[in-house]
Amino acid sequence: DAKRAGRDRGQVFDAAVHLRHSRRVTLERDLRAALHDGGLRVHFQPKVVLGSDLAVAAEALVRWEHPQEGLLAPAAFLPVAEESALVVALDAWVFEAALTAAAAWRLDGRPTASGLPAVNVNVSGRHLTHPDLLAHLDRALEVSGIDPARVELEVTETVLLRDLDDVRAILLDVRERGVRIALDDFGTGYSSLTWLQRLPVDTVKLDRSFVGDLLSPGRSPALDILGSVTDLAHALGKQVVAEGVETRAQRDHLVALGCDFGQGYLFGRPQPASPFDR
Ligand code: C2E
Ligand code: MG
Ligand code: MG
Ligand code: MG
Repeated sequence: DAKRAGRDRGQVFDAAVHLRHSRRVTLERDLRAALHDGGLRVHFQPKVVLGSDLAVAAEALVRWEHPQEGLLAPAAFLPVAEESALVVALDAWVFEAALTAAAAWRLDGRPTASGLPAVNVNVSGRHLTHPDLLAHLDRALEVSGIDPARVELEVTETVLLRDLDDVRAILLDVRERGVRIALDDFGTGYSSLTWLQRLPVDTVKLDRSFVGDLLSPGRSPALDILGSVTDLAHALGKQVVAEGVETRAQRDHLVALGCDFGQGYLFGRPQPASPFDR
């Protein structure tokens, strides 16, 4: 009867909630263990000068070598890390691992300003506003011995949901160390051109959804958007990176728009070794 069916549905629902909850608890416990037992990896994806395709930097992207499930991408575990504040320790570990690896990188071909390739590291909004952020950054700089001018921190637009003055002050502290700042996934959510003007940001990373919308060859709305944002970023003195470049047609469009750098499968996938290892 109806009453009985309702009760059964309730039980099924409770069971599903319980399963999700227990899976999350297990995931969090295992991730914490991986963090302490050497189960995390950093992969590196090249960033190239658009037009010459010369790699000048690489972005550190965290992976989890899961004992049963194999190599996991951030989408499988970062949400849990974010919820539990484990992301702060995870980010700090990536800082050290990535900067230490990058300190040994060398560049073939045309040199960059510092003569050496740069490294990009992501920082979660939660870590950016955490009291230990600067201590974590300083420790990674010290342990690695890398020139801070070779380091760029990538913050996502979600940090812009927080107090703008707070974020601004933190970014200025980061920059005081000589470390650069990139605004990641630009154009996806909360960003506006006002934020771009008011925050001490060196680089804008155009989200790959725009790049994916570039039709090949012809004109498209995405082309006009990317062109406008690129011009504006340049007018504000920022460099522009296009994310998610997968085809030569996209690359050619981006070169024509005057975009400075590109990242994407066309130039290289994230890999355990950077293009600068030897
Ligand atoms: P993100 O910082 O925007 O990194 C770019 C993502 O796009 C990476 O995914 C990369 O593998 C992927 N990608 C690069 N080129 C292409 C392409 O041509 N096509 C497609 N379809 N995808 C491409 P991944 O490695 O899965 O990382 C996802 C996100 O996880 C990152 O997005 C970043 O927000 C976050 N993340 C990664 N590592 C860390 C970390 O150490 N700390 C923190 N807080 N977040 C991290
Ligand atoms: Mg990034
Ligand atoms: Mg991005
Ligand atoms: Mg992204």
